Amino acid sequence: MKKKLVMMLLAACVMVAGCGKTAVSDNFQNSDAKEQEEFQIEVESKIEQEKCFLCGDAEDSLMGYYSKKESIGIVHLNSLYVSETRVRDFDDDGNELFQQGGSSTMVNSFGEGYGSVAIHGNPDRGYTNIDVSVSDKDEVDFELLEDRLCQICLDTLADFYEDQINSGDNENNGCSGYCLIDFQTKELHRLSEPYSGYTMGDYYVKYDIWKEGGGSDWHRISVFIAYLPERVASGN
Ligand SMILES: [Zn+2]
Repeated sequence: MKKKLVMMLLAACVMVAGCGKTAVSDNFQNSDAKEQEEFQIEVESKIEQEKCFLCGDAEDSLMGYYSKKESIGIVHLNSLYVSETRVRDFDDDGNELFQQGGSSTMVNSFGEGYGSVAIHGNPDRGYTNIDVSVSDKDEVDFELLEDRLCQICLDTLADFYEDQINSGDNENNGCSGYCLIDFQTKELHRLSEPYSGYTMGDYYVKYDIWKEGGGSDWHRISVFIAYLPERVASGN
């Protein structure tokens, strides 16, 4: 794993330097010489795609079981624990379940010092609210993932992580340790900054990241997912 900082010099200052006929004050030159630091990370997978825990066929992964369900999961990356978001419910054979009796709550914790997810699914209505507790320890650890995930998944997660770091709000880096996964396509989707929502297929995803009060070090991600397939006229 290699980390590097890339210095980006924006152009304008080069143009004015050394041009004797242009009357430019030192102050003006300095204000144009903008520098930006951009964080980049390169992560190298040590396994073949077929052995990938999330998009491949790893022996200890439940993704084969989940892939029968046309729904969305939430992943805690440092434990590779996948939870169903219960935006829609399916039986073990992949048949969708209807009218199961309203909402329910399921909580999964990921070990001492790590966060947890509380999933308040309402599959009868096609939406779910997920309350994610996030600690600093949840920040994605690529050294743990290099021999569990393939290059495609690692590159996607590295993009999410770079965007989180470059958002400049380093208080919330723990959010990089969570993502959503489409059980059908195996695509990963972020739950980190600087974004706060998107659509994935027929699903609408919105999330807010905030810090707990009272001097706590813990953060929260409040996630809302709704199943919103395209509407068609009935009775034709
Ligand atoms: Zn993968």
